[in-house]
Amino acid sequence: MLLLTRCRRSLPELKLWTQFEKWFPERRCRGTLLYAGKGPHALMRYQTRFLLSALDEKHFPAPTVPEIAFLGRSNVGKSSLLNALVGEKAAKVSSTPGRTRAINFFQLSDEKERPKLVFSDLPGYGYAKISKSISAEWPKFIEPYLAERETLKLCVCLVDSNIPPQQSDGKLLEWLRHVGRDFLVVATKTDRLSGNVRTKNLAAIKHEFELDEVLAVSAKTNAGIKELWNRAAALEE
Ligand code: GDP
Repeated sequence: MLLLTRCRRSLPELKLWTQFEKWFPERRCRGTLLYAGKGPHALMRYQTRFLLSALDEKHFPAPTVPEIAFLGRSNVGKSSLLNALVGEKAAKVSSTPGRTRAINFFQLSDEKERPKLVFSDLPGYGYAKISKSISAEWPKFIEPYLAERETLKLCVCLVDSNIPPQQSDGKLLEWLRHVGRDFLVVATKTDRLSGNVRTKNLAAIKHEFELDEVLAVSAKTNAGIKELWNRAAALEE
Protein backbone atom coordinates (compact mmCIF):
# COMPACT_ATOMS: atom_id res chain seq x y z
CA MET A 1 0.00 0.00 0.00
CA LEU A 2 2.52 2.49 -1.17
CA LEU A 3 0.06 5.28 -1.62
CA LEU A 4 -1.55 5.21 1.77
CA THR A 5 1.09 7.41 3.22
CA ARG A 6 0.66 9.09 6.52
CA CYS A 7 1.02 12.75 6.12
CA ARG A 8 3.78 14.24 8.18
CA ARG A 9 2.80 17.80 7.45
CA SER A 10 1.68 19.88 10.37
CA LEU A 11 -1.74 21.50 10.31
CA PRO A 12 -0.38 25.00 9.58
CA GLU A 13 1.61 23.52 6.69
CA LEU A 14 -1.49 21.87 5.32
CA LYS A 15 -3.43 25.12 5.59
CA LEU A 16 -0.66 26.88 3.73
CA TRP A 17 -0.76 24.22 1.04
CA THR A 18 -4.51 24.65 0.64
CA GLN A 19 -4.03 28.38 0.33
CA PHE A 20 -1.23 27.80 -2.18
CA GLU A 21 -3.57 25.70 -4.30
CA LYS A 22 -6.10 28.53 -4.29
CA TRP A 23 -3.50 31.03 -5.38
CA PHE A 24 -1.90 28.81 -7.99
CA PRO A 25 -4.60 26.46 -9.22
CA GLU A 26 -2.58 25.52 -12.31
CA ARG A 27 0.00 23.86 -10.06
CA ARG A 28 -2.66 21.62 -8.63
CA CYS A 29 -4.10 21.09 -12.08
CA ARG A 30 -0.84 19.72 -13.27
CA GLY A 31 -1.31 17.22 -10.50
CA THR A 32 2.19 17.61 -9.16
CA LEU A 33 0.87 16.47 -5.84
CA LEU A 34 -2.67 15.48 -5.15
CA TYR A 35 -3.89 15.17 -1.62
CA ALA A 36 -6.87 13.01 -1.02
CA GLY A 37 -9.07 12.94 2.01
CA LYS A 38 -9.52 15.49 4.72
CA GLY A 39 -7.53 16.23 7.81
CA PRO A 40 -3.88 15.65 8.49
CA HIS A 41 -4.05 11.84 8.62
CA ALA A 42 -3.93 9.13 6.02
CA LEU A 43 -3.64 11.44 3.06
CA MET A 44 -2.60 9.94 -0.23
CA ARG A 45 -0.22 11.50 -2.66
CA TYR A 46 -0.41 10.94 -6.34
CA GLN A 47 0.98 12.68 -9.33
CA THR A 48 -1.70 12.65 -11.92
CA ARG A 49 -1.55 13.34 -15.61
CA PHE A 50 -3.93 13.15 -18.50
CA LEU A 51 -2.82 10.36 -20.83
CA LEU A 52 -5.09 10.46 -23.87
CA SER A 53 -8.61 10.51 -25.24
CA ALA A 54 -9.57 7.31 -27.03
CA LEU A 55 -12.21 7.35 -29.70
CA ASP A 56 -11.43 3.86 -30.83
CA GLU A 57 -10.10 0.64 -29.33
CA LYS A 58 -6.81 1.07 -31.09
CA HIS A 59 -6.19 4.30 -29.18
CA PHE A 60 -6.39 2.68 -25.76
CA PRO A 61 -3.17 2.93 -23.77
CA ALA A 62 -1.25 -0.32 -23.43
CA PRO A 63 -2.73 -2.24 -20.49
CA THR A 64 -0.30 -1.99 -17.59
CA VAL A 65 -1.42 -0.91 -14.11
CA PRO A 66 -4.89 -1.52 -12.63
CA GLU A 67 -7.58 0.64 -14.15
CA ILE A 68 -10.69 2.16 -12.60
CA ALA A 69 -13.52 3.31 -14.85
CA PHE A 70 -15.91 6.12 -13.90
CA LEU A 71 -19.40 5.87 -15.32
CA GLY A 72 -22.64 7.73 -14.92
CA ARG A 73 -25.53 9.52 -16.54
CA SER A 74 -24.86 12.98 -17.91
CA ASN A 75 -25.14 15.54 -15.14
CA VAL A 76 -24.61 12.97 -12.36
CA GLY A 77 -21.60 14.93 -11.12
CA LYS A 78 -18.83 12.87 -12.75
CA SER A 79 -16.68 15.85 -13.77
CA SER A 80 -17.03 17.34 -10.32
CA LEU A 81 -16.03 14.08 -8.69
CA LEU A 82 -13.05 13.65 -11.02
CA ASN A 83 -12.17 17.22 -10.30
CA ALA A 84 -12.05 16.34 -6.61
CA LEU A 85 -9.99 13.24 -7.41
CA VAL A 86 -7.56 14.16 -10.16
CA GLY A 87 -7.54 17.94 -10.23
CA GLU A 88 -9.30 20.60 -12.20
CA LYS A 89 -7.28 20.61 -15.37
CA ALA A 90 -7.47 16.87 -15.89
CA ALA A 91 -11.21 16.82 -15.21
CA LYS A 92 -11.72 19.71 -17.60
CA VAL A 93 -10.13 17.69 -20.39
CA SER A 94 -12.97 15.21 -20.10
CA SER A 95 -15.60 17.85 -20.74
CA THR A 96 -13.77 19.51 -23.65
CA PRO A 97 -15.91 19.37 -26.78
CA GLY A 98 -14.82 16.42 -28.88
CA ARG A 99 -13.71 14.51 -25.82
CA THR A 100 -17.09 13.94 -24.22
CA ARG A 101 -17.66 10.93 -26.49
CA ALA A 102 -14.22 9.55 -25.79
CA ILE A 103 -12.77 7.48 -23.01
CA ASN A 104 -10.34 9.81 -21.29
CA PHE A 105 -7.44 8.12 -19.52
CA PHE A 106 -5.50 9.54 -16.57
CA GLN A 107 -2.39 8.06 -15.08
CA LEU A 108 -1.69 8.21 -11.38
CA SER A 109 1.88 7.77 -10.28
CA ASP A 110 3.57 7.71 -6.92
CA GLU A 111 6.05 10.29 -5.75
CA LYS A 112 8.83 8.53 -7.63
CA GLU A 113 6.76 8.73 -10.81
CA ARG A 114 6.05 5.01 -10.91
CA PRO A 115 2.63 4.47 -12.53
CA LYS A 116 0.26 2.94 -10.03
CA LEU A 117 -3.26 3.32 -11.34
CA VAL A 118 -5.15 4.49 -14.38
CA PHE A 119 -8.53 6.22 -14.17
CA SER A 120 -10.73 6.07 -17.23
CA ASP A 121 -13.55 8.55 -17.62
CA LEU A 122 -16.33 7.21 -19.80
CA PRO A 123 -18.87 9.27 -21.72
CA GLY A 124 -22.06 10.13 -19.86
CA TYR A 125 -25.17 8.23 -20.87
CA GLY A 126 -28.86 8.65 -20.31
CA TYR A 127 -29.99 11.40 -22.63
CA ALA A 128 -31.51 9.23 -25.31
CA LYS A 129 -34.11 6.61 -24.46
CA ILE A 130 -32.36 3.39 -23.70
CA SER A 131 -33.63 0.28 -25.34
CA LYS A 132 -31.77 -2.93 -26.03
CA SER A 133 -28.19 -2.00 -25.32
CA ILE A 134 -27.14 -0.19 -22.16
CA SER A 135 -27.02 3.04 -23.98
CA ALA A 136 -27.95 3.49 -27.59
CA GLU A 137 -25.99 6.72 -27.75
CA TRP A 138 -22.74 5.23 -26.48
CA PRO A 139 -20.02 4.81 -29.09
CA LYS A 140 -19.47 1.21 -30.15
CA PHE A 141 -16.11 0.75 -28.47
CA ILE A 142 -17.42 1.38 -24.95
CA GLU A 143 -19.04 -1.97 -24.32
CA PRO A 144 -16.02 -3.99 -25.51
CA TYR A 145 -13.84 -1.79 -23.30
CA LEU A 146 -15.96 -2.60 -20.26
CA ALA A 147 -16.34 -6.24 -21.11
CA GLU A 148 -12.82 -7.06 -22.25
CA ARG A 149 -10.25 -4.64 -20.92
CA GLU A 150 -7.94 -6.93 -18.95
CA THR A 151 -6.55 -4.30 -16.59
CA LEU A 152 -9.97 -2.90 -15.67
CA LYS A 153 -10.37 -3.79 -12.00
CA LEU A 154 -13.31 -1.69 -10.89
CA CYS A 155 -16.18 0.29 -12.39
CA VAL A 156 -17.18 3.23 -10.23
CA CYS A 157 -20.83 3.76 -11.14
CA LEU A 158 -22.19 7.14 -10.16
CA VAL A 159 -25.84 7.62 -9.36
CA ASP A 160 -27.48 10.86 -8.32
CA SER A 161 -28.67 10.63 -4.71
CA ASN A 162 -31.15 13.47 -5.30
CA ILE A 163 -33.38 11.64 -7.73
CA PRO A 164 -35.16 8.29 -7.66
CA PRO A 165 -33.18 5.29 -8.98
CA GLN A 166 -32.95 5.55 -12.76
CA GLN A 167 -33.67 2.78 -15.20
CA SER A 168 -30.57 3.58 -17.25
CA ASP A 169 -28.35 3.11 -14.19
CA GLY A 170 -30.13 -0.17 -13.46
CA LYS A 171 -29.43 -1.37 -16.99
CA LEU A 172 -25.78 -0.55 -16.72
CA LEU A 173 -25.42 -2.39 -13.41
CA GLU A 174 -27.32 -5.36 -14.74
CA TRP A 175 -25.01 -5.48 -17.72
CA LEU A 176 -21.86 -5.17 -15.58
CA ARG A 177 -23.10 -8.10 -13.49
CA HIS A 178 -23.75 -10.00 -16.67
CA VAL A 179 -20.19 -9.50 -17.94
CA GLY A 180 -18.76 -10.18 -14.48
CA ARG A 181 -17.25 -6.78 -13.75
CA ASP A 182 -16.66 -5.60 -10.20
CA PHE A 183 -18.39 -2.33 -9.55
CA LEU A 184 -18.89 0.15 -6.77
CA VAL A 185 -22.00 2.32 -6.74
CA VAL A 186 -21.29 5.85 -5.61
CA ALA A 187 -24.17 8.19 -4.77
CA THR A 188 -23.30 11.78 -5.71
CA LYS A 189 -24.33 15.23 -4.44
CA THR A 190 -25.26 13.95 -0.99
CA ASP A 191 -24.57 17.39 0.51
CA ARG A 192 -27.88 18.53 -0.99
CA LEU A 193 -29.86 16.17 1.23
CA SER A 194 -30.76 16.33 4.89
CA GLY A 195 -29.90 13.34 7.08
CA ASN A 196 -33.29 11.61 6.86
CA VAL A 197 -33.81 12.10 3.17
CA ARG A 198 -30.26 11.00 2.49
CA THR A 199 -30.75 7.79 4.42
CA LYS A 200 -34.04 7.15 2.63
CA ASN A 201 -32.61 7.83 -0.82
CA LEU A 202 -29.53 5.71 -0.25
CA ALA A 203 -31.76 2.87 0.95
CA ALA A 204 -33.90 3.22 -2.18
CA ILE A 205 -30.80 2.99 -4.40
CA LYS A 206 -29.59 -0.09 -2.53
CA HIS A 207 -32.96 -1.73 -2.74
CA GLU A 208 -33.69 -0.93 -6.36
CA PHE A 209 -30.29 -2.04 -7.62
CA GLU A 210 -29.93 -4.95 -5.16
CA LEU A 211 -26.70 -3.68 -3.66
CA ASP A 212 -24.90 -4.50 -0.44
CA GLU A 213 -23.41 -1.05 -0.24
CA VAL A 214 -23.58 2.41 -1.70
CA LEU A 215 -20.80 4.91 -1.10
CA ALA A 216 -22.20 8.38 -0.44
CA VAL A 217 -20.03 11.22 -1.73
CA SER A 218 -20.09 14.94 -2.26
CA ALA A 219 -17.67 16.77 -4.51
CA LYS A 220 -18.73 19.93 -2.71
CA THR A 221 -17.90 18.91 0.85
CA ASN A 222 -15.47 16.08 -0.04
CA ALA A 223 -17.58 13.64 1.95
CA GLY A 224 -16.73 10.07 0.94
CA ILE A 225 -13.73 11.11 -1.18
CA LYS A 226 -11.24 9.56 1.22
CA GLU A 227 -13.17 6.28 1.22
CA LEU A 228 -13.12 6.33 -2.56
CA TRP A 229 -9.36 6.85 -2.55
CA ASN A 230 -9.01 3.96 -0.15
CA ARG A 231 -10.88 1.73 -2.58
CA ALA A 232 -8.68 2.93 -5.41
CA ALA A 233 -5.46 2.48 -3.46
CA ALA A 234 -6.51 -1.04 -2.46
CA LEU A 235 -6.39 -1.99 -6.14
CA GLU A 236 -2.94 -0.63 -6.65
CA GLU A 237 -0.31 -3.30 -7.34
P1 GDP B 1 -21.37 15.52 -15.24
O1 GDP B 1 -22.21 15.90 -16.41
O2 GDP B 1 -21.70 14.17 -14.75
O3 GDP B 1 -19.90 15.68 -15.46
O4 GDP B 1 -21.80 16.49 -14.05
P2 GDP B 1 -21.08 17.78 -13.44
O5 GDP B 1 -19.91 17.41 -12.60
O6 GDP B 1 -20.87 18.76 -14.53
O7 GDP B 1 -22.22 18.28 -12.44
C1 GDP B 1 -23.53 18.57 -12.87
C2 GDP B 1 -24.12 19.62 -11.92
O8 GDP B 1 -24.19 19.10 -10.60
C3 GDP B 1 -23.28 20.88 -11.83
O9 GDP B 1 -24.16 21.96 -11.72
C4 GDP B 1 -22.48 20.68 -10.55
O10 GDP B 1 -22.13 21.91 -9.93
C5 GDP B 1 -23.45 19.91 -9.70
N1 GDP B 1 -22.74 19.04 -8.74
C6 GDP B 1 -21.87 18.07 -9.06
N2 GDP B 1 -21.42 17.45 -7.95
C7 GDP B 1 -22.02 18.06 -6.90
C8 GDP B 1 -21.97 17.88 -5.47
O11 GDP B 1 -21.28 17.02 -4.92
N3 GDP B 1 -22.79 18.69 -4.73
C9 GDP B 1 -23.58 19.64 -5.30
N4 GDP B 1 -24.35 20.38 -4.48
N5 GDP B 1 -23.65 19.84 -6.62
C10 GDP B 1 -22.89 19.06 -7.42
